[in-house]
Amino acid sequence: MAAAEEDRHLRLTGEFDCDATPLATLRHSTSHVMAQAVKRLFPEVKVAIGPAIDDGFYYDFAKAEPFTPEDLARIEDVMREIVKANVPFERQELARADAVAFFEKLGERFKVEILHGIEAPTVSLYKQGDFIDLCRGPHVRATGEIKAFKLLSSSGAYWRGDEKNPMLQRIYGTAWLSQEDLDKYLWRLEEAKKRDHRKLGRELDLFDFYDVAPGAPFWLPNGMILVRELEKFARERLDAQGYRHSAYTASQELTADEVRLLGSYVRGPRIWDAAALLPTVTRLTNLGLITPVSATGAAMRRLSFTRLPARAVPPPRACRRHRAG
Ligand SMILES: [Zn+2]
Repeated sequence: MAAAEEDRHLRLTGEFDCDATPLATLRHSTSHVMAQAVKRLFPEVKVAIGPAIDDGFYYDFAKAEPFTPEDLARIEDVMREIVKANVPFERQELARADAVAFFEKLGERFKVEILHGIEAPTVSLYKQGDFIDLCRGPHVRATGEIKAFKLLSSSGAYWRGDEKNPMLQRIYGTAWLSQEDLDKYLWRLEEAKKRDHRKLGRELDLFDFYDVAPGAPFWLPNGMILVRELEKFARERLDAQGYRHSAYTASQELTADEVRLLGSYVRGPRIWDAAALLPTVTRLTNLGLITPVSATGAAMRRLSFTRLPARAVPPPRACRRHRAG
């Protein structure tokens, strides 16, 4: 959903045509309230876009200094005031040229840039209190409908995700239909932190990192127990599905780049450049040479993949336990 929402915010045409799902609408509306609060506290800041994303929302701001945790707390306080004031979201339509003039006057260069990319003759603006934003909508009717939200973090993000563009400051937040849902979500985040592999890796002596291969984990004996259990699990599942295994040493079927990419892939999923690797994996998968699911267990110097079954996949055999029973 995130990519589609973002795209929608860059190509809006004045009609809202998206699925008005309650959560996405609520979260996106919360991003407007956040932008309003930020503009109140930091009037010099320029606004970019603020889509709903999975589990929350963000808004990007042009600001020289990053937001601090104290800033986020202050922004959250102002947001609560705006929610309490229960200001309506008011839609108005404007000729595109007038909207360009309007945002140029405000110095909102990102809005002007978005408007230049739109072909529609009219666009929609949404106003809540002292804040007005170029947006296709939809939103909740008034800020009072925002019940449970929290700002989570901030980080740098390039405008339109392109490193040649200016670096913006992005604030992430989350919003839910009830306080109970929000509390549950925050609890899940806390639990996930406790299970962060970087933390567990250190505490349980699972893996270590060395300069010779930055980003590639060197598995310690405890970690290898996990790796081997996962391999065993994958092998059993694949055997049951009728997959046949084969191993490739760097062969003519692979270019040097592909060997390098796949090598990094099999050594440690955390370091592969997914975007760069994808065409190779797709090509080899389409050729029927590999199925990437079993690549995790390969030895360092050997690329070992599971060859897809030559014929139609036979029906799965009963697992060991059921055969025994
Ligand atoms: Zn909006």
